[in-house]
Order: sequence, then structure tokens, then C-alpha cells
Amino acid sequence: MKMISRNVIIAFLVLMLLAAAFSLISDGLKQSPQISLTELVQKINAGEVSRIKVSTDDLDVTLKNGETLMSKKEPQATLIQILENYGVSKEARDNVVIEVENPSGFAFWAGAILPFLLPFLLIVLFFWLAARQVQRANVQAFTFGQSRARVIQPDSKKERVTFKEVAGVKEAKEELHEIVDFLKNPAKFLEIGARIPKGVLLMGAPGTGKTLLARAVAGEAGVPFFHISGSEFVEMFVGVGASRVRDLFKMAKRAAPAIVFIDEIDAVGRHRGAGLGGGHDEREQTLNQILVEMDGFEPHESVIVMAATNRPDVLDPALLRPGRFDRRVILDLPDINDRESILKIHAAKKPIDKNVNMRTVAERTPGFSGADLANLMNEAAIVVARENRKTIEQLDLVRSIEKVLLGPERKSHILSPKEKEISAYHEAGHALVAAVLPTSDPVHKITIVSRGRAAGYTLKLPSEDRHLYSRKNFLDELASALGGYASEKVVFGELTTGSSDDIKKATALARDLVTRYGMSEKIGPITLGERDELIFLGKELGMEKNYSEAVAQEVDSEIKNFITNSFVTAEKIIKKYRKVLDTLAKRLIENETIEREEFESILGSFGLSQVRTA
Ligand code: ADP
Ligand code: MG
Ligand code: ZN
Repeated sequence: MKMISRNVIIAFLVLMLLAAAFSLISDGLKQSPQISLTELVQKINAGEVSRIKVSTDDLDVTLKNGETLMSKKEPQATLIQILENYGVSKEARDNVVIEVENPSGFAFWAGAILPFLLPFLLIVLFFWLAARQVQRANVQAFTFGQSRARVIQPDSKKERVTFKEVAGVKEAKEELHEIVDFLKNPAKFLEIGARIPKGVLLMGAPGTGKTLLARAVAGEAGVPFFHISGSEFVEMFVGVGASRVRDLFKMAKRAAPAIVFIDEIDAVGRHRGAGLGGGHDEREQTLNQILVEMDGFEPHESVIVMAATNRPDVLDPALLRPGRFDRRVILDLPDINDRESILKIHAAKKPIDKNVNMRTVAERTPGFSGADLANLMNEAAIVVARENRKTIEQLDLVRSIEKVLLGPERKSHILSPKEKEISAYHEAGHALVAAVLPTSDPVHKITIVSRGRAAGYTLKLPSEDRHLYSRKNFLDELASALGGYASEKVVFGELTTGSSDDIKKATALARDLVTRYGMSEKIGPITLGERDELIFLGKELGMEKNYSEAVAQEVDSEIKNFITNSFVTAEKIIKKYRKVLDTLAKRLIENETIEREEFESILGSFGLSQVRTA
């Protein structure tokens, strides 16, 4: 509607301009003064006229002195006849050059036809605009079907990525080398009858570099990379997803050897028939089309389909059958060495102070993904730029760790003195309990500066990358999670809402101990309730309860036991080391933050230490 009215305005303006131009032209033609025939005759008789140009009934008169005049004759008669009738003598007439011009000039046509043609043109123009309007809408509907794939050509210097730019993920890279070799030289493989996988599925937590690695495969092989995201298939109109798949594969085949990359394939590739809400029909059709295309192309077409997901558990089994995504590559979160090299990759183009030790940063960032580390480096650079400094220093990186973990500091959030005291005791409680218990993660920092959603926090990081946790480990963690709560209770005798997050976390942990890790002696090693996937799949909302009411009661009482025992442990520690707690809290109120070194020296002055045993 908006488009139409805009076009009408444009058409109107064009018309105005035309009209103006036309009137200018015709005015231009009539610039010379008009005289009557009688006057003309007088002038001829007086011998002032040098020539007369006749075009139809218009007379252009040029005088001997160079002046031009205009006049008109009667339509039916010729100029000669008229002059004779007016009694102009032959001699006088012979002095005048008379030219007769065929009325074929632009002016004639414009003058004669335009007045009739103009409205007609107007109407045509209007219809043309309207038709174009409709057509454009059609074209839009048409392009909906076309794939929205972005293509990265191998010769694009800016977008091309190689394995060099992907740190870590050694095994994944090794597996993908084979794909690269095939794409570089398909003939070699086909000659000996090797069957090359059609589909490679990259699996890994968000930010582990799946998208990056897929691009790197194309970059290494020097083939075009067609990139589309699963969610883009499922946009808006039913039936579009499937045709997009068709277009995408058509394009890729034309460009073969090539890679088709379907990012976040879980958006279309979930278990079929399990959709929550509307739109799952669309997903099914799209998924079917992907399967049809993958089944349909021949080995010699050398198009390899890569896909990425962080939810491999929810993928439709049909996707994983042989001949489809039968090659699976897992990307783990980076370990300390990988983290160091990822940091170095992202530091490469930034001015880094020569005293910066990336190893220390890597030590402090267990659990960070590649994307987190890239983000960390970027945050540090932003801070440096904002403070008009030239190089990134160690402290910038350390501060960015917390920023990435917890969101930016909220300096503006002012605590009242009472709130500050409560927060200080709360955080000191967490830290103290964690420090005293031998297997909980060591404390790196305590602060009551609020950050993101947390009012204050105690930063604990595992001393190494952990894959296994012991029961004792969990119990210590549980106690230190309740350390803040216990401290508030012991010191102030009443509780605040500040502990709600801790309590939620502690309860979830206790429930996992009982229902997932088999760490409750009474219940034993049984998984109770399959939680995660089911909601996602829409098979059932909420937790599936696959056990009896009697067991449920027992589970609840075991959870309660874990919590109560942990609370008692925490409370005991708080009471026993009350002096340490007071010192920590006082220091926090003064300074708001205690770093690891200071924390350990305070502990030391009371004969305590953070020595870890596990
Ligand atoms: P995913 O697709 O697994 O969610 P991405 O590939 O989008 O993760 O990674 C996001 C960003 O994180 C990348 O663009 C890159 O800057 C960085 N990154 C992730 N993993 C690595 C890695 N192994 N080496 C270097 N950079 C990485
Ligand atoms: Mg991605
Ligand atoms: Zn807390």
C-alpha cells in the first residue's frame, strides 16, 4: 500500500515536470511578438521584410534589421494568394524570400499530438506502475523459495579461513583432513572405488568452533562454501523450507566440488512427529527434502554436506543413518593448552604487552569455550581503547575473565551500609567454608561489587580441568554453596533474599546427586526421571516420572538429608572460625574485593590454608 502511494506521487511529479517542460518549449516557439496580417502587409510594402517562413498557418517573419516577428494566415489560403488579395505589389513581394516548410518538426507533432496523447500516456504509466507493483510482490514470493545460502568463494581473501586459524580440536582436524583431501582431488578416491562420506556432523557445545571449523575445511580444500542456518529454513511460510533445500543443493552441485553447511541443524532435524506447537510440518518437509537430496546425489558429484549441532541427542535418527551424516566429529571444550593457543590466535592482531602471560590466563579459564576466549580478548581490547592506552596488559585480561563469566560490573548499584555488611558476611561465608573443606574448588576472588545479576560473588575455579567429580567433592561444594546462608544465619540471626540463588543451585545439585549420579546410599545407582531431552522433544512436558510414589518420597527425603547435612557442616565451620569470618567481612566492607593472594594470607594468619587434596 505504501509502495503504491509512493509510486503515484512519483508519477504525479513526473507529469508536472513534463507539463512544465512542454509549456516552456511552446512558449519558446512563441517568443517573437505577434503581428496581424495587415501589419505584415504594411511592412512588406515598406520593404522592411527580408524573409517569411511558412509552416502550416504560422508565419515566421524576419525583418531586414534582423528582428523576428510572428503572424498567422488563414488556414485555407496560401500566403501568395493572401498577399495578392491584400494588394501587395509583385515587386514588393519579390523582395521577400518565402520559404514553405513541411510541418514535420517536433514542435508540430508535440503541439498536435501531445494534448491528446498526454492523458493516454498517463493512464498507461499508471497501469504500468500498478502492474510492476504486482509483479514485484510475485518476485518476492518467488525468492522466498530460493535458498538464502551465503556463499564463501575460495578466492575470497577476507572470508577464507584455514586450519591454522582454528586452535586445538586436534582430533577433529585430523578427521576432517580426509574430507579436505577428497575435495581437493576427488578423482584419486573415486578411481580406487572409495566411498566418501556424504555427510559430516560436527557436534559440540556452543562456541567450540563448529562453524569456524566447517569454514576452515572449505578454506583448506579451496572449494566454495554454501552456508545456511537451520532456523532459516523454517521461516514464515510453509513449503518454503523444502524448496530452499532444493535450491541450495542445486547451487552446490553446479559449483561442485563444494561444501554445503547446515548450521544448527537441530532446528530442522529434530525427531519427526515430536514438534511442540505449530510449524513442525514445515520442519518435517524440510528435513525430508534434505534426506532426499543427500540420498539423491552420486559420489562423483563431490558435494559434501556438513552440519553442526550442539544438541546431537535430539536429532532425528534418519539423519544419522549410513549414507547421510554417518561421519561424526566431536569438538570438546578446549583444555589448558588449547586455551592458550586459542588466546594466542586472537591476540595475534592486537597490541599485547610483552609481560602478558597467556598461560596464566589459560589457567584461570577452565570451562571457557573458544568463543568465550575470543570474547575475553575482545573485552580486554575494548577496555584498553576506552582508557586510551596502547597495549593490553595482564590485568586487563584478568578483569575480562570475570566480565565474560558474569557480565559487566555494576558500579552504580549502591549498597546501603547494612546491605554491604550482610553481603560481606554472606560472601565471606562462602569463601571460608570453601577454603576449609579440602576438596572444594579454590577461591580466586571474593567481592561485594555487584556484577550482572549477582549482588556479590565468590569466584571459585577448579585448579585443573575436571572430568570426574567425587561424592566428597560434591558434598564440599554443596556446603560452600550454603556457606553464605549459614553465615547470615549465624551472624545476624535472620535471613535475606540474597540466598535464593544459592539455595536453588544447592537443591539442583542435591537432586542430581540422588537421581543421576547414584550417590545416595539409600537409593543406589538408578537414574530416576529423564529430564533434559524430553521437554525439547515435546514428547512430554516436564519431567517424566518413571518411578513410584514411594521412591519419590525417598528421593525427596534423601535430597533433604544432603541439604541439611551440608548446612550443618557449613554452620559448624562458620561458628568455629568466626574470627576469620569477621576479618574477611571487615576487609570486604573496607575494600569490597579480596583477591586470592590476600585471601590466602588472611587464612595464613589464622594458621589455615587453601591446600587442595583432590
Ligand atoms: P560454534 O559454531 O561451535 O558455536 P563458532 O565456530 O561460531 O562456534 O565460534 C565462535 C568464535 O569463537 C569463532 O568465530 C572464533 O573466533 C572463536 N573460536 C571458537 N573456537 C575456536 C578455536 N578452536 N580456535 C580459534 N578460535 C575459536
Ligand atoms: Mg555456530
Ligand atoms: Zn551466595
